[in-house]
Parts: sequence; structure tokens; C-alpha cells
Amino acid sequence: MRLEKCYFCSSTIWPGHGIQFVRNDCKVFRFCRSKCHHAFKKKWNPRKSRWTKAHRKFTGKELTTDSIFEFEKRRNEPVKYNRELWQNTLKAMEKVDEIRTKRQSHYVMKRLRQGTLDRKAADMREVRDYIHLIRAPNATKPMEEIELVQKAMAKRTALVDEKSETTKKLFKRRKPPTIKVILIPSDAEILAEEV
Ligand SMILES: [Zn+2]
Repeated sequence: MRLEKCYFCSSTIWPGHGIQFVRNDCKVFRFCRSKCHHAFKKKWNPRKSRWTKAHRKFTGKELTTDSIFEFEKRRNEPVKYNRELWQNTLKAMEKVDEIRTKRQSHYVMKRLRQGTLDRKAADMREVRDYIHLIRAPNATKPMEEIELVQKAMAKRTALVDEKSETTKKLFKRRKPPTIKVILIPSDAEILAEEV
């Protein structure tokens, strides 16, 4: 059973689903559903449709460059059946999948964290710049109030800085899992060595 990827949205196409289009230069385009097929027929660019994987990767919302993507590749090399190799491959697939999901979620969380910090900073700036709109018109000691706000802001930014530093430390401490790749020589190579 071979699971294909949709040409437009990059989702998995399970057997018996979707449609495929073969161009007259033999290039095969597979689509997961009529939505994607329709988009292709309309000559839409997958990067410009927000709901596609291509768009998410293009706009930096998802992990694109990582050693983890090197595993899932189509190799046109026939492999002789070997029970041990088969078992090891299955185990490795599970492990690789686990590592990939972990790294991807970590990447997304990092991006979201930065977003919340940016929003907070923007809110603080707004309060600082438009304090005269919040303050009651008859209030006395305006300078003191401004000072208070400024002090609170300094405190908050210090806290935020501290937070980011501790997260940095955490990242430093945590080592990325190493993946060993063992190359098994093919039969032809072994024969060539023996000769
Ligand atoms: Zn699709």
C-alpha cells in the first residue's frame, strides 16, 4: 500500500481516494479531493492558498529545514528482503515519527510564544503613548502617575526578559536526539568487493 501526497495541499491520499491527472509529458499530479483538483484546474498557486502545507512552509509557520525530513524519501533502489532490516526499519519509523512530531510542535510553540510577547509589548506601548486618554481629566499629579506606569512597565519587561532567559537556558540544556544512519551495502557492491 502506497500513500501518496496531494499535489496541492500535501495531505496524505489513501488508496481509493482522490483523483490523478497525467500531463502529456507523463508527470502525474495527484489530488486528495475535488477541492484541490479544482484549484489546480484554476491554475492557483498552492503557496497563495492559506490552507495548504506549501503556504504554511512558505510563510515560516512550519519546520522546513531539519535532518528529520531526510528519511522519508523515495529511493529507486531495490532492497533484498531481510527480516532483521525489516524489523529495524519499522522500529526506526516509529522513533523518527516521534522525533518529528516533537520537533514540529516545539517549533510551533516557540513561534506562538514570541507572538504573545510581541502582543504584550504592543499593549504596553499603547498604554504608555495614550495614558492621557485613560487618566481622569481632573486627576492631579500627572507626572507621578506616568512614573508609576513607567515603573510597572520596566518591571514587566524585566520579567519577560527573565522568562526568555530561563527558556534559553532550558533549550541549551536539552540536547536534540541523535539519529544514527547505518548504510548497508547492496549485493552488487559486495560482489564487486569480492571480485
Ligand atoms: Zn489536497
